[in-house]
Amino acid sequence: MQPIVSSTALGLEGRLTVYNYNGGPCYQCLFPTPPPMTACQRCPDSGVLGVVPGIIGCLQALEAIKIASAVGEPLSGRMLLFDALSAWIRIICFMGRSSQCEVCGENAAFTGKQFQDFDYEKFTQSPLSTGYGAGAGAGAGANSGGGGGGVACSSVVMGVEG
Ligand SMILES: [Zn+2]
Repeated sequence: MQPIVSSTALGLEGRLTVYNYNGGPCYQCLFPTPPPMTACQRCPDSGVLGVVPGIIGCLQALEAIKIASAVGEPLSGRMLLFDALSAWIRIICFMGRSSQCEVCGENAAFTGKQFQDFDYEKFTQSPLSTGYGAGAGAGAGANSGGGGGGVACSSVVMGVEG
């Protein structure tokens, strides 16, 4: 699996992390089940302050450059949290790759065909937004499913060939 630099922005907050980097966890390792519908917010409904995805997008580009040039410490196994109101940035660490992960675990049988056929709307029990930003959910991550990214947050996923 190639590394995926993933970010989200909603309201006045942003998040950024890297999946599948040098044996680090994949999206499914960290989020094996979708959150309840009541926990999800959508940018079309809740809004997002434009500078927040701008800031997170710049940091996302920086992570992609770090990975492509093999310098620094990418945010693998860690997540950057940004709060625009307080200008507060925090980095949290999470567990490494899960040996029980259905996608990358020891007995994983997840195939490219299954990925292509993955029904994201059924998985999240939430319809994808239509008419939403073309750049959203553009990636190869399990969180986007190649769709609109209108569920939970706007999501921009960038793959970096390793
Ligand atoms: Zn995994």
